[in-house]
Amino acid sequence: MLECMKNSIQSLFSIRWANLKAWGKDFFKRNGLLTLSVLSVVGGCLLGFLLRDMNLSDQAKIYFSFPGELLMRMLKMLILPLITSSLMSSLSAMDARACGRMGLITITYYLWTTFMAVIVGIILVLAIHPGKGTEKQGNRVGGGPVMTSADALLDLIRNMFPANLIEATFQQYRTQLVPVIQARSISQISAGSPNYVYIMPDDTNPSIRRPVLLELTPPPEIHYKSIPGSSKEMNVLGIVIFSATIGLLLGKMGERGTPLVNVCQCVNECVMKIINAAVWYFPFGIVFLVSGKILEMQDPREVGEKLGMYAITVLSGLLIHGVILLPTFFLIMTRKNPFKYIRGLLQALVIALATSSSSATLPITMKCLLENNGIDRRIARFVLPVGATINMDGTALYEAVAAIFIAQVNEYELDFGQLVTISITATAASIGAAGIPQAGLVTMVIVLTSVGLPADDISLIVAVDWALDRFRTMINVLGDALAAGIISHICRKDFLPEAEKENLTCDIQNLPMTEIPLLASKDCVFEVIGDTVTERPAVYYNICQV
Ligand code: ASP
Repeated sequence: MLECMKNSIQSLFSIRWANLKAWGKDFFKRNGLLTLSVLSVVGGCLLGFLLRDMNLSDQAKIYFSFPGELLMRMLKMLILPLITSSLMSSLSAMDARACGRMGLITITYYLWTTFMAVIVGIILVLAIHPGKGTEKQGNRVGGGPVMTSADALLDLIRNMFPANLIEATFQQYRTQLVPVIQARSISQISAGSPNYVYIMPDDTNPSIRRPVLLELTPPPEIHYKSIPGSSKEMNVLGIVIFSATIGLLLGKMGERGTPLVNVCQCVNECVMKIINAAVWYFPFGIVFLVSGKILEMQDPREVGEKLGMYAITVLSGLLIHGVILLPTFFLIMTRKNPFKYIRGLLQALVIALATSSSSATLPITMKCLLENNGIDRRIARFVLPVGATINMDGTALYEAVAAIFIAQVNEYELDFGQLVTISITATAASIGAAGIPQAGLVTMVIVLTSVGLPADDISLIVAVDWALDRFRTMINVLGDALAAGIISHICRKDFLPEAEKENLTCDIQNLPMTEIPLLASKDCVFEVIGDTVTERPAVYYNICQV
């Protein structure tokens, strides 16, 4: 009897164990990479906090962060080929009407959701009032010259039209502010000690050198002048505009443009292949990327006391926008389950959290949309690069909250007109922000100066910015990806391949396979094997013009 019970328990256990093993295998096959990435974020946080107590030297921190740095470099390497090849190949494959319609819907959708995010931020910051009781003096990290909003807006427009395309791949235009120093002759020195005495060439005869006084006092009244300059960041906006224009024109050129379109499709496929291989390095890189950042940060307790409420306001705004508003909008527009769609994007969201850069996350977002969510590649190739450049819901929300927080700290009452100004300028500033870490902090000057707030008070919020940046980047990436889902639903009729428009599905099923092995549209062919129809780029079969 006892033996019989023992046997049945054993067989029960072995069945359960086999089921569990099968389930685990299946789960890891489907979600292994994602699970590893999430674990590496958690592991990176733990490791970072453990190592903080060891007081590593600066050099040791640099060595420690090296694998994370490699991850960032790999992702950045892919941005340029991905953006150019995606935009050129997708736009060249569309007819002008469909393209115009999709472009219009995309831009309208992006502006609308960004504005919605700003409104959420404004409502929350007015309700929570995080600036109350925050002392200004203690928080300041030190200010510097800041450019006016007019300069920032002009820079944005200048960057849309890069003067040199090669230069645009590694730097962008940025107005520099230089102090205007008054030079006076040494004989004009009045009582009191001079500030700096320099020997300068005489204006009329440069061979004569005279001592002059460079008057720098009083320091707070130093005047600054704008001069042309540059910053070492890729000018993604300029590249997007150029590639989109070329793509549109290639489409119009028809047969003559096909060789270049094929090159772009090949480049695009190669980039996707590199991404597929590189993703296996990501979990390892993420551990060091996250822990390296934690090693660098200020004492969290000290920062939390001063900026805790501000951080909570930004995070709740991001949560409301990303978990309630955007998914609801997706549900209304597509009648599909938004959370199922977001599940397919988790890998991209983890990378956004780890890298703080929507441009660097772009390759992974593209991979997730194509492989997990089945979005039409022509739509993803257009909507995502444009979104990663101009659609930043998280950044816009944060800029509005930060500006009003700074007003509250300064005890500066904002009237309704100023709130409207903030909502418009925060939308514009987020469009101008690059998809790189902490870019929003730079463009926030547009928002602050538009309502007369001191622009160097940005230094008040610098201490928590690196952390908030990670979460707002996640919302930026989520916004782009949901947009691709909505736009692909709205434009689904425009993007059926030519053959499909004439009721392709029943044709495929009814035709004898020997007669029609391939059905082709302009830039893709359908490989029909048995019941399976696979979309392939035309170049896959070396078909240039069908
Ligand atoms: N880091 C953000 C992004 O890449 C931009 C920002 O808000 O600073 O999307």
